[in-house]
Amino acid sequence: MADKTNATDVTQATEEVTALRTQLNEWRRQYYDEDAPNVEDDVYDRQYARLVELEQAYPQLVTPDSPTQLVGGTVRAGFTKVTHAIPMLSLGDVFSQAELKEFTERVEQNVGEPVDYNCELKIDGLALSLRYEEGVLVQGATRGNGTIGEDITANIKTIKSIPQKLTRPLTIEVRGECYMPKAAFAALNERREAAGEPVFANPRNAAAGTLRQLDSRVVAERQLSTFMYNVADYEPLTARTQSEMLTELADLGFATNPDFKVAHSMADIFSYIDRYQNQRADLAYGIDGIVIKANSLPLQRSLGATVKVPRWAIAFKFPPDEQPTLLLEVEWTVGRTGVVTPTAVMEPVQLAGTTVARASLHNPDYVAAKDVRIGDTVLLHKAGDIIPEISAVDMTKRPKDAEPLVIPTTCPSCEAPLVHLEDEVALRCINPKCPAQVQEGLVHFASRNAMNIDGLGPRIIAQLYTNHLVTDVADLYRLTTEQLLTLDKVKDKSAEKLLTAIDRSRDNSLERLLFGLGIRHVGAKVARLIAQHFGSIEALMGAAQEEIAEIDSMGDVIADAVVQYFASEEVHTLITELQEVKVNTTYQGPSVEVAEESNSWFAGKRVVLTGKLTSFTRGDATQWLQANGATVTGSVSKKTDLVIAGSDAGSKLQKAQQLDITVWDEAQFSETMREDAQA
Ligand code: NAD
Repeated sequence: MADKTNATDVTQATEEVTALRTQLNEWRRQYYDEDAPNVEDDVYDRQYARLVELEQAYPQLVTPDSPTQLVGGTVRAGFTKVTHAIPMLSLGDVFSQAELKEFTERVEQNVGEPVDYNCELKIDGLALSLRYEEGVLVQGATRGNGTIGEDITANIKTIKSIPQKLTRPLTIEVRGECYMPKAAFAALNERREAAGEPVFANPRNAAAGTLRQLDSRVVAERQLSTFMYNVADYEPLTARTQSEMLTELADLGFATNPDFKVAHSMADIFSYIDRYQNQRADLAYGIDGIVIKANSLPLQRSLGATVKVPRWAIAFKFPPDEQPTLLLEVEWTVGRTGVVTPTAVMEPVQLAGTTVARASLHNPDYVAAKDVRIGDTVLLHKAGDIIPEISAVDMTKRPKDAEPLVIPTTCPSCEAPLVHLEDEVALRCINPKCPAQVQEGLVHFASRNAMNIDGLGPRIIAQLYTNHLVTDVADLYRLTTEQLLTLDKVKDKSAEKLLTAIDRSRDNSLERLLFGLGIRHVGAKVARLIAQHFGSIEALMGAAQEEIAEIDSMGDVIADAVVQYFASEEVHTLITELQEVKVNTTYQGPSVEVAEESNSWFAGKRVVLTGKLTSFTRGDATQWLQANGATVTGSVSKKTDLVIAGSDAGSKLQKAQQLDITVWDEAQFSETMREDAQA
C-alpha cells in the first residue's frame, strides 16, 4: 500500500511523481534507446516501484505518458517501422514470495478455481517477434514501444538458432528472447575494451546493441542466440497449454529453453525459484529472474492484459547478488594494441560461486563515473552473471583522506605520453616499441588461434624479452637450446619441446600468420578469408584497398587497416625476415579445423576437470566445454585429451602426469576459452 507518510498530501506526491518520471524517463532513454544504461537495474526498479506506489495511492496522478503505462523504447533511425497487430507487452514484476502469492491469488480469484502455472527462466535479452508465412521466415522485429518495433529481418537472418523454414507450413508470429551467451558477452567486452571502445553493461544491452544496428555482418559475428516462448495467436498450433506450446515450438524448429516446469502449487513454484536461483551461475546465458505464466492458453486469452502487462504472467526478479569488499589498489596495464586499462584489485570475496579479487575499470571515463577511491568499500556484482564489476561505492565507509584516482599521463611500461585517439574512450600508448605491447604481441603471435606454439606463454616470453633474446616474432625462429636453458625453470626436455613447437609452427598456413601479426581489425575469421582469397603474403601486400574491401563484403575499415599495416617499411623487413627463417607465407588450403562444424579447439576432445577453479564454477566450465563439443568425464584414462587442473588438484593430476596427458592450469583454460569465443 502507499506510504502516505512520505507524501503527506497530493501536492507533495505530485512533486515526487514528477521528479520520479523525469528521472525514470531519462534512464529508460539510456537503456532502451541507447542500449547503455547508467544505473543498475535494481536502482531503476526501486524508483519505479516507488512511482507505482504513489500512483496507486493517488490514481488521479496517473497519466498516459507515465513509465508505468508505457512499454520499452523508440525506433532507431535507419530502421523501418513494424506495427505489431497484437501488442508485445512487458511483464509485471515482483520481488518477494509474498508478492508472488498475491499474484496467483489474484489470478485464481478471477478464474474461480486453482490454476496450473508454467515456470520459465527469465532470459536476460530482448524480446523478438518472428513472422512466418506458410512456414517461411518473412520478418523479424523488435518489441519497440510494444505497438511499433524495428524491422530487423536482415539481422535475424544471421542468427543460427532461428529457422528460415519451419517443419510445417504454418503462418504464425512467434515471439521470444534474443540473447548473448555469457562467453560471447565476456569475449565481446574484452575485444571492445582492447579496441578502446565502450563496453556493454550486461548481455541484454549487448544483445540489443547488436540486433539494433544496421550492419548485419556485425550481427553475424557476435554469436547471438534465441529462446522462443510465445506466439501472438495460438490458433495455428495444436498446443493449448504454455508447456505444450514450448514443445511444439521446438518441434517446428525453434530453440526453446528446456528448463521449464509446470507447477501445481505454490510449493512447486517456490522450489523452481530456489533451484534456479542456485543454478543461475552455472547457466551458459544470463537470467534475471523467473517468469510464472498461467499454463492454459485459452485462460491466458480470457485473462487478457493491461496497457502494459499481461494479467496471466508475472516476473519474479532475483535480488542482486552483491558483495562488499575493500578496494586495495588500481593497476594500469598496457595491452597488445596499446590500450591502457585500469583494474581494481580488491580483497578476495566469494561472489556467485567463485572467488573474485579483480574487476576491470575499463577506461578513464568509467573510473570518473564510478568515482572509486583506494580504501573504499565497494559493492561487487557480476555483470550478466559472469563479469565481476563494481556496481557502487559505499559512501558511508569512505575514508576521510580518500583521494580521487589519478589517471596516468605516461605509459606504465615505457613512460611515453599517453593519448586519447579520436572517438575512443581509452587511453593509449602509441609507442610501437613499448615493451609491454611488444610482449603482448609475442604472446598473441604464439597463441592457439594464431601460430599455436604450445608452451610459449607470457612467463617464457617475458624472460625472452627481458634477456634480449627476442625483440620481434622473427627472433623466435632463431632461438637455440642453449639460449632457452638460460631461462628460469627451463630444463633440457622443456627446451626441446618448445623448440619443436616453434619449428612446427613454421609450416602453418598463411591465415595463422596473418592473425598472429596482430593487424588491427583482423581477427581469426577475417585472416582466413584474406588468406583464402590472396593465397600468399606477396599477393596480399600488392593488393589494392578495393580488392580487400570486396572480399565477402569485408568493408573499408578492415581493408584500410590491412593496407596501412603493409605500407610500413618495418613490416616489409619483418616479413622478409620471417621468410628468411623459413616461416611459410602461403595459404595451405582449408584445415581440418575449419572444415569441422565446430571451430572450437575443444570439439571432440575428452576433458577432465580437477581441483578448485576460481573464476568459474565447475558446472559453468562443464557446460561451456560441452557446448563447445567436448566430452567431460570424471576420471583420467589413456583416452583423456586434456586435464584442467585448478588449485589443490590431487590424484587426477598425478595420474595425468603419469600418463603424459596435457595438463592446463586455469589461466590457460580461460585464455583458450576467450580465443575460442573470438575465433
Ligand atoms: P522486463 O525485461 O523486466 O520483462 C519483460 C520482458 O522479459 C519481456 O518483454 C521479454 O523480453 C522478457 N522475457 C525473458 N524471458 C521471458 C520468458 N520466459 N517469458 C516471457 N518474457 C520473457 O521488462 P521490460 O519492460 O523489458 O524492462 C523493464 C526492466 O528493464 C526493468 O525492470 C529494469 O530492470 C530494466 N530497466 C533498466 C533501466 C536502467 O537504467 N538500468 C532502465 C529501464 C529499464
